[in-house]
Amino acid sequence: LWQEALEHIKESLSPQLFSTWIKPIRFVRADKSMVYLQVPNRFFLDWIRDNYVARIEQALSTLGAVDYQVILEVGKPENSSDQAENPEPPAAPAREILAQKKPEFFPSNLNPRYVFNDFVSGSSNQFAHAAAMAVANNPATTYNPLFIYGGVGLGKTHLVNAIGNAILKKNPDMRVCYYASEKFMNELINSLRYARMDEFRNKFRSMDVLLIDDVQFIAGKERTQEEFFHTFNALYEAHKQIVVTSDKFPKDIPGLEERLRSRFEWGLIADIQAPDIETKQAILKMKAEKNAITLPEDVAYFLSNSVTSNVRELEGFLIRLGAYASLTSTPITLEMAREVLKDILVEKNRELTVEEIQKTVAAHFNIKMADLKSPKRLKALVLPRQIAMYLARNLTSLSFPEIGERFGGKDHSTIIHAIKKIDKCQEEDFQLRAVIDSLKNTLTR
Ligand code: ADP
Ligand code: MG
Repeated sequence: LWQEALEHIKESLSPQLFSTWIKPIRFVRADKSMVYLQVPNRFFLDWIRDNYVARIEQALSTLGAVDYQVILEVGKPENSSDQAENPEPPAAPAREILAQKKPEFFPSNLNPRYVFNDFVSGSSNQFAHAAAMAVANNPATTYNPLFIYGGVGLGKTHLVNAIGNAILKKNPDMRVCYYASEKFMNELINSLRYARMDEFRNKFRSMDVLLIDDVQFIAGKERTQEEFFHTFNALYEAHKQIVVTSDKFPKDIPGLEERLRSRFEWGLIADIQAPDIETKQAILKMKAEKNAITLPEDVAYFLSNSVTSNVRELEGFLIRLGAYASLTSTPITLEMAREVLKDILVEKNRELTVEEIQKTVAAHFNIKMADLKSPKRLKALVLPRQIAMYLARNLTSLSFPEIGERFGGKDHSTIIHAIKKIDKCQEEDFQLRAVIDSLKNTLTR
């Protein structure tokens, strides 16, 4: 069954991810509905639990026609054979750790690992971090709602969970609830189907702190938005804290109802930007230390410099290195990092082309790519063109004249002028800033 499940999972993952995360997993045993799997270390275990257990369980359950539950345990690397024959009893089943959380009126759904202590603050997330701390210290009296937005893997889920965990720690009796917005939607659908709407409403309206993650998913879903709107109002009027995250600024979420959008703007809106190199290094160091991975300075620098700004991916690289080092019983070195991450780095380091930037900008503004390169002075073209030039300067290493050339042979002073102008406008016009951020996100994803 395990072999079959592996085949199944293989199909749904890139070979890269499969060999990094799934291959090192060892099957230990299975009984009626439990499957025991062994992973190389604690770090790996957390990662698998958060990212792959659901997928593995699904594959097993589909194939075996039983609702399997996966129990992960940390095992010794394969070469220590005495251990392998006689696997240790599952010491810390991931599920139990989660289940040990104190019983509550209803579950908080919080991830206990996401706390403020483990969140590295840097210039990219300082504002959101400070706002989150303020809300955690004084729920419902500072910023309500708090709206946090930012690109994928930049720490939104971590921050909202940290708010919830901090509040619960200080006020164990408070009803704090974390909801991914899809889960909110699913519960709503179920309540509608089984005519249990009263129960649903009572539940949500009795919360002291409601944390809604990735609210962009309910955009375009009429019934869900409607219900969320009423939940929001009830909580807001009762002076309860609401925290919402999204991948975009409220105005930029397509399909989001106007009345919800305006409510999101009642409180404080805080953004998280991609981390700079120093912050990335600090995050890597913290994560390495926490997981007993010895990460030399030069490797930390190399990683922060050469890979993604998505912190989740960054973390993934670190874990991959850590797993590799522990499986081969060798320390992490720069050479190893280069070797292990070779394939990924080639792809990641491919520089964006001006063409790609122009294409994305043109699509966003619904104009022709040729118009970005033309000398036409139409107002509707000038701004997109300047934005494209600005992005070309920021996202590639090309010089002003080189950029000018790719915009239909414009003088380098035209490019400098455009960049200065966009820089200045961004300071005054935060809508423009949001547009540029979202273009940057799309381009660098
Ligand atoms: P998002 O919800 O924005 O997609 P997450 O909150 O899931 O991102 O973060 C992805 C991973 O990166 C998590 O493991 C999180 O702990 C980590 N992370 C992100 N930002 C930070 C930070 N500033 N300090 C420490 N860890 C971070
Ligand atoms: Mg998230």
